[in-house]
Amino acid sequence: MENLSIDLIALLVTALAVSLIAFFLGKKTGGVWEKEARLAEEKKFRRELLLSESRKNEFQRELNDLKQKNEKYLYFLVRLPETVKYLNSNLSFDEIISAILRLTKDLTDTDAIELYIFNKKTQCLDLIAAYGSNKKKSIEINLGDGVIGESASARAMVSKEQVERRLPGRNGENIELGVPILFKTNLIGVLGVGKIKAYTGNEKRFLAMVADLAAVALQNCEYLTFAKEEAITDALTGLYNKKHFFERALEDAQKALSYNFPLSVFMFDIDHFKKYNDQNGHVEGDVLLKRLSKLLKENTRSTDTIARYGGEEFIVLLPNTEKNSAILYAEKIRKAIESCPFQHREKQPLGYVSISGGVATFPLDGKSIDSIVKNADKALYESKTSGRNRVTKYESFQFSSEEEPQKPS
Ligand code: GH3
Ligand code: MG
Ligand code: MG
Repeated sequence: MENLSIDLIALLVTALAVSLIAFFLGKKTGGVWEKEARLAEEKKFRRELLLSESRKNEFQRELNDLKQKNEKYLYFLVRLPETVKYLNSNLSFDEIISAILRLTKDLTDTDAIELYIFNKKTQCLDLIAAYGSNKKKSIEINLGDGVIGESASARAMVSKEQVERRLPGRNGENIELGVPILFKTNLIGVLGVGKIKAYTGNEKRFLAMVADLAAVALQNCEYLTFAKEEAITDALTGLYNKKHFFERALEDAQKALSYNFPLSVFMFDIDHFKKYNDQNGHVEGDVLLKRLSKLLKENTRSTDTIARYGGEEFIVLLPNTEKNSAILYAEKIRKAIESCPFQHREKQPLGYVSISGGVATFPLDGKSIDSIVKNADKALYESKTSGRNRVTKYESFQFSSEEEPQKPS
């Protein structure tokens, strides 16, 4: 019985010991697992943290991109009304061109811009302005040639890749995109743009708008230039009219006084022109006026101003020309007309078409342009009365002088 108790106690003690060992062992093993699990958890967490960090950076990048795009949009939208207003404020051709170049540069931040205008006469595109390009201003591009020529003939945007895809190795130019400038369906020119920096995907749309703005402004400028030219031109001969002659004469008289150089006026009238009309008809008379005007232009410096003063009367303003040189010029014109084989010339009283003229010089022969013109007319009258087909120099002692030379009025 005692033995049994001892055995039982020993068994209990052993069981307790085993349990204790098992407990401690178990606890120890359990701790390792837990740590590993925790480490795995932490690793996962860090990975996720890293992932979300890179996602955050990605979002930030996208946000920045969007902000940049938005800023470009805003910039364009804010500038649009101001640009439209500016481009429609009766700018000169050169002012329009530089405004277009500036707007294109601001929107694309490109390092090359070329602006071509379509020349209706030559059917080519003339380079008229460039930024960051080494091309010469005199360059001409044929329709269908390269990015510029193709966008003109297709009347659509054409990229460098499109051209290179069809004609590999043909295009070494720095212009990446050709944007046609069209007014309705009329080709006005082409805007060539180089590589676009910080491309947002909207630049093509912006450039199309710039081209539309340019088209309207350039077309208006052409209409206005035409209207202005028409207002100062004689319709039959294409020479300047009397009104313009006086405007120019006043400007030139001011310069003549400021720089102390002489300004001469040569006025002439066709001899027996009524007879020419009566014998050959009014239409033939018009033909003679046109041919004579052409001859006059061909024999006159570009710095001089030629105008049709009246029916068959003409006047030429000769800046920086003293009286004797003006007489030499007038004689050259008289001889050129005398020897020109005009139609029906043989029926004129002298057997050819002739003119009678007079020359007066500012400020020597009068204080104002009006008096200079009057005195040239007096000299012309003298040529008429002394036999026609001649040129007379105004001399104050010979003709009654009206006034002393002064500042022009
Ligand atoms: P003179 O030698 O004295 O200058 O004689 P004239 O016959 O040239 O001068 P007159 O003043 O008698 O005649 C000028 C003519 O010019 C009369 C007019 O019909 C004509 N004329 C004026 N303007 C035009 C025009 O635009 N076309 C034509 N065909 N004739 C014109
Ligand atoms: Mg006359
Ligand atoms: Mg006459």
